[in-house]
Amino acid sequence: MSQTIVATRYWHQLDDGQVQCDLCPRHCHLQEGQRGLCYVRQRLDGQVKLVSYGRSTGFCVDPIEKKPLNHFYPGSGVLSFGTAGCNLACKFCQNWDTTKSREMDILADAASPEQLARAARDAGCRSVAFTYNDPIIFMEYAVDVAAACRELDIRTVAVTAGYIDPEPRADFFSAIDAANVDLKAFTDRFYYKICGAHLNPVLETLEYIHHETDTWLELTTLLIPGENDSDAELEQMTRWVVERLGPDVPMHFTAFHPDWKMRDHQRTPAATLGRARRIALDTGVRHAYTGNVRDPEGGSTYCHQCGELLIERDWHRIGGWGLDTKGCCANCGTRLAGHFGAAAEHAASTPVRIRVS
Ligand code: SF4
Repeated sequence: MSQTIVATRYWHQLDDGQVQCDLCPRHCHLQEGQRGLCYVRQRLDGQVKLVSYGRSTGFCVDPIEKKPLNHFYPGSGVLSFGTAGCNLACKFCQNWDTTKSREMDILADAASPEQLARAARDAGCRSVAFTYNDPIIFMEYAVDVAAACRELDIRTVAVTAGYIDPEPRADFFSAIDAANVDLKAFTDRFYYKICGAHLNPVLETLEYIHHETDTWLELTTLLIPGENDSDAELEQMTRWVVERLGPDVPMHFTAFHPDWKMRDHQRTPAATLGRARRIALDTGVRHAYTGNVRDPEGGSTYCHQCGELLIERDWHRIGGWGLDTKGCCANCGTRLAGHFGAAAEHAASTPVRIRVS
């Protein structure tokens, strides 16, 4: 399957002869031949088209905890892939070799939606994840892959910044079974200065996913020393999550390492992640996790009612299992929010790179 250019629905003609892309709040205005900031949507023949349909930077089988998702079939394998480009411009990007790529030849692997779904099933994966770069910008491909996966009872997972307009948002998330959305900070200053975006559209997406869809939602915040890790900001953020999304949406606090255009900041100390987790728990978030560091306590799941250890994790490896067959605490019977399979499935997998054909 070679690189494919497909028509898209989310754009309109402007009076000055340009067209406006209506997929994300950037609303790029495009002349003929011009690409948007995301690089994979381009004006061709007077329309906005997706030019990376069916192409990928490669496929890998990961444990679902790596996305990170801790309440969506824990320990199951997920076939992960991404494409090129991104609609945010984060200075700390940790996948900048693909997200900032201006070369389509990094898209080495090609796969139809049906091939991908079959590959996931044959590899024993419970789900397929759109990850490494934001699937919103290649949503026509992602939605077709999701439809092919549903035919084979394979779930789909989006790892995304949630920066999308209302109409495509409804079309995108109706196809997706679980999402980990980056809540990058809780100030518009951070979103604008460091990501070239705005906070409010992301908050709207979070409320939409949680209240209007069946998509399982978890949140991730990469903590950057001095930029988004103050007690006050973390208290504001976690209070908003509890008040607007409720206490059952899990939050992950992960460690930054100097990369791309932010090599002048230090790594996130493990103590900062622990502090953020404690603030979230004190504010009322029932399940808060640390990530990118070895922290068995901060990575494990506990019953919010009786405190019993429900899912023990060491890095991405599952240890003890304290849920009954209905996904409830085996000690007190309180239901754990999320989606859980049989205990036998929770053998953590090691990342494996595969070819799809
Ligand atoms: S999806 Fe791409 S082309 Fe469309 S508005 Fe966003 S950045 Fe611009």
